[in-house]
Amino acid sequence: MKDRGQACSCPERIPSWAKKNKRLKDLHLTKTGLRTLSLASVCEEARCPNIAECFARPTATFLILGDICTRGCRFCSIRKGVPAPPDPREGERLAQAAATMGLKHVVITSVTRDDLPDQGAAAFAGTIRAIRKLLPGATVEVLIPDFSGRTDLIETVLRERPEVFNHNVETVGRLYGSIRPQASLKTSLAVLRTAREYSCDTVVKSGFMLGLGESKEEVAELLEALSRSGCEVVTMGQYLQPTAAQVPVSRYWSPEDFKRFSDIAKNAGIRYVISGPLVRSSYQAKEVLEEVRRNRIGVGKDGTCL
Ligand code: SF4
Repeated sequence: MKDRGQACSCPERIPSWAKKNKRLKDLHLTKTGLRTLSLASVCEEARCPNIAECFARPTATFLILGDICTRGCRFCSIRKGVPAPPDPREGERLAQAAATMGLKHVVITSVTRDDLPDQGAAAFAGTIRAIRKLLPGATVEVLIPDFSGRTDLIETVLRERPEVFNHNVETVGRLYGSIRPQASLKTSLAVLRTAREYSCDTVVKSGFMLGLGESKEEVAELLEALSRSGCEVVTMGQYLQPTAAQVPVSRYWSPEDFKRFSDIAKNAGIRYVISGPLVRSSYQAKEVLEEVRRNRIGVGKDGTCL
């Protein structure tokens, strides 16, 4: 019998729970809308398994600052290389697309832009402003890169008061060297801590994938660290190898395992946990935000967000 806590070096074929059917008509309509406005969605670039479900709603996670990343995380299928200079009108086009699609919750993310002096922080801020102008009723979620942990850049985004500030830790600390060689878990946790200390108005969220070689104990440790960093929403999903060029799946964790990890997260003090094989960081993002807002009662005497 396999030890549940250890990653297996020879995974089975993709289990049925890790697959989803695609509703091609809905996919095509939203993709056409994005193309018309020359926009990219991370749903397509990262080959998200929920693409049909989200595009059918319709909702999408917009990718700003191009579709070429300056880093080379080994699980990620986004192209690596030298990106083009930022397009100063991208935020307006994104807001226009979100308005045309009638979105009530807009998720914005980007590749990592280590080549830019502000690493793309101003583009996030400008995009939030453009959405507020064109879609004043919509809520905004940003899924930011680590900005190398620079507080000034993180605060450039936080000043625009996004309803949700998301930064994914992606994997457990031990695997950073082999999976995310240009990043560090310490920096990512500091990014989340900075957001938590900035204001309780913004929901602080993170997420990671399972199936890259982590053990159950390492996952529990990571969840504790996220809780200590003030993270109140965590998403956990199964890693699926996007193409043969990325690292293979080390293990397919079962739906029951995901339920166990969810319980561990809650015991660690994380209030909102979305855990399942097909969960990705923006999965049911609007519904999660609504739940947090329904339950929010204010700020405790010690500054804790209640
Ligand atoms: S930094 Fe983000 S977009 Fe770039 S390679 Fe890593 S996961 Fe992919």
